Amino acid sequence: MSLLTQKTLKKNVKLNGVGLHSGNKVNLNIKPSEPNTGIYFKRVDLSSNNIVFPNFSNVSNTDLNTTISNEFGVKVSTIEHLMGALFGLGIDNALIEIDNDEVPILDGSAKDFIDEIIKFGLQTSNAPIKIIKINKKINFEDGERYISIEPSKLSLDIDFQIKYSNELIGNQRNKINVYEDDLNDIFNSRTFCLYEDIEKIKSLGLAKGGSLDNAVVVKGKKILNETGLRNSKEFVNHKILDCIGDLYTSGYRVIGSVICSQGGHFLTNKLLKKSIRK
Ligand SMILES: [Zn+2]
Repeated sequence: MSLLTQKTLKKNVKLNGVGLHSGNKVNLNIKPSEPNTGIYFKRVDLSSNNIVFPNFSNVSNTDLNTTISNEFGVKVSTIEHLMGALFGLGIDNALIEIDNDEVPILDGSAKDFIDEIIKFGLQTSNAPIKIIKINKKINFEDGERYISIEPSKLSLDIDFQIKYSNELIGNQRNKINVYEDDLNDIFNSRTFCLYEDIEKIKSLGLAKGGSLDNAVVVKGKKILNETGLRNSKEFVNHKILDCIGDLYTSGYRVIGSVICSQGGHFLTNKLLKKSIRK
């Protein structure tokens, strides 16, 4: 078992579901790929110009999801949970065929991606992994929200906090070591929203596929999902999952220590743009 050589999937992994924001039905086929090809999407509903690379410089929208677009305007949205699963499992190379413009939301977490991929296993190559080691502190602030990354020895640490005026969510903080900790609680944590925000989000044409089957909905002191939370820090843990997925748009295994307060897709993307020269 080598942590230092590139990996891909052993077999094709097929999943289908609806897009959280588009509401469209979508089929995914995650396929093994050669060393040094990286992760890349192919829109199989289009016959040309249909390759989209999940690179931070191709991120075209960060409102309630991470969307990537190629130079022809072909896009794939809500890539972050799948990217988080691939990073967490140590998958360096994969071709993701998709027949619509949004990755299926499944249960709102990375659980189904993880379960399906590990069912078939991984294939190891002899090519060394690609890492990027942060050598000086970089930060980005936006009002009260901030994110920073600084050097670490060999780990990727993420220390994340959220501050909600909603009394059930409140302040939550968690710190994880991505390469060493058990990430099950992170992978299993679902996207969430406040009940009172649903109308506003829908009026923006978003969350057309949203339901209690793929998101935690909080109304005052109550969780509207019958089965409650999956873990006691599910809210902040989901934000950490998003952060891992967004960090993977660097194209590298990152060695560094991230601290984030009240951040999200926008801040993580800004941090990568400041940290990595193209
Ligand atoms: Zn998310």
